[in-house]
Amino acid sequence: VSDRMKSRHVGFVGGTLDRADRLRGDPALLADAFAHPAARLLLLDGLDPVVDGSGLATVPLPRDIDPDQFGLLGLDAEGPLFVSLVPRALPHGAGVTSQVWSVAPMLSPDALAHYGAARSLVDWHARHRFCAQCGGATSPVRAGWSRRCGNCGAEHFPRVDPVVIMLAEHGGRALVGRQPRFPEGRYSALAGFVEVGETIEEAVSRELFEEAGVRTTRVRYVQSQPWPFPSSLMIACIADVEDDALTLDETELEAAMWVDRAGVAAALEGSPDAPFTAPPPMAVAYHLLRHWVGEGEV
Ligand SMILES: [Zn+2]
Repeated sequence: VSDRMKSRHVGFVGGTLDRADRLRGDPALLADAFAHPAARLLLLDGLDPVVDGSGLATVPLPRDIDPDQFGLLGLDAEGPLFVSLVPRALPHGAGVTSQVWSVAPMLSPDALAHYGAARSLVDWHARHRFCAQCGGATSPVRAGWSRRCGNCGAEHFPRVDPVVIMLAEHGGRALVGRQPRFPEGRYSALAGFVEVGETIEEAVSRELFEEAGVRTTRVRYVQSQPWPFPSSLMIACIADVEDDALTLDETELEAAMWVDRAGVAAALEGSPDAPFTAPPPMAVAYHLLRHWVGEGEV
């Protein structure tokens, strides 16, 4: 995979680990995984990635650990890969460590996906030490893929928060908007959390009406992306809408505009004449825009 290909890959997608759910609830198989001579521990610095010359840094799994405090991320050709469920800062100089966004372009797509899963899992454990039902202390079970309350016995699972991210389309143009926090010139697809009791299609329709005042007639799914900040699942869609008159919710959007395919293509190429700056290839919005441009080709 070339550096260019890596940098154009949607982030956190493409993990190749066998998640090995069959091991999680089987004490004998799980003990074998912990005892595997090639068992490795993925290093994190707090929640940040640690890289070495070959990608994500790992060390042999220490032998003197409490297995209950480690999660099994999965198996690959080498053996099992674990992560500590208790986030720890590495001592200074223990590895090349940095913020996600500076490390991500150095990683292969599968390594970045494994990091994203580990980050979401470790972060969830750190924030769910007490039972949401009774307030009792919880502890990890199922190789780190759930927690059980020591008081009432309730089992809690790592959460995934679905987010719809969508382009409205009308008359051969797509709707892009910008939030005040975006870098100068950046526009992207609109987005919002799915609410309880909603389908993906209903969430797309509601968000487009709330944020831009447009009425949706049809929704088509394009692709999805785990987004580990902390545990979103981005669901990318394209929505046909009734007309192009906009009524913006200015608490959400600073500006929005309709752009034709030539304009979107120019933005994706980074052309200085483009009507806006596209989101980075790491983001699913970039790939949604690219998909929409391709849809117009016959
Ligand atoms: Zn409880």
